[in-house]
Amino acid sequence: MTHRDQLILIVEDEPKIASLLADYLNAQGGFRTLIVGRGDAVLDVFRADVPDLVLLDLMLPGLNGIEVCKLLRAECDVPIIMVTARVEEIDRLLGLELGADDYICKPFSPREVVARVKAVLRRAETTRDNQRQQGLEIDELKFTARLNGTDLGLTPVEFALLKTLSSISGRVYSRDQLMNAMYSDYRVVSDRAVDTHVKNLRKKLAAVSGDEEMIKSVYGLGYRFGE
Ligand code: CA
Repeated sequence: MTHRDQLILIVEDEPKIASLLADYLNAQGGFRTLIVGRGDAVLDVFRADVPDLVLLDLMLPGLNGIEVCKLLRAECDVPIIMVTARVEEIDRLLGLELGADDYICKPFSPREVVARVKAVLRRAETTRDNQRQQGLEIDELKFTARLNGTDLGLTPVEFALLKTLSSISGRVYSRDQLMNAMYSDYRVVSDRAVDTHVKNLRKKLAAVSGDEEMIKSVYGLGYRFGE
């Protein structure tokens, strides 16, 4: 595999802070950076060159960080670190369940930001490794999943289910956790619905692998993927 620099998208409207972060990341080696100063400009930049991670300031002109986070989450599962000027904001942000991967409070030391960026990227890489070991390729942008090179032809709900289950091999997910992963709109569905989707997903996996038990039921708890 050829090595390429990882692209960090810095969404920050204060030019000094933005360039300080960019300088620090660029000095690390292995990163390249892109700066966007307005919330409403993020999506176009994002689509033109999909980054490996987004550092997202909360207070932005155009669209605020919360709205931008929602837009990006609808696009794909890119790692997002939210940056806020107030430590009290973090509780509120957590409560909103935006799906950001980490939170950093201003004022921050650039060194701390670099450490967090590396940690979040490592976690994302571990997830991809786990999936690759199972023969899975999950394409977050196209919402497609391949097993041993064959497209599984998943529905969006099955895709979300497989993506979650396979992110940590062997981890047991409860039906509630899977429901949240399947329906970003927090629609209320029954446990039965989860079981039905798991059953269909199992069939599609088995059609390629011949293994009926790629997703295992864990009695009284939920489901897990892999060993
Ligand atoms: Ca700001």
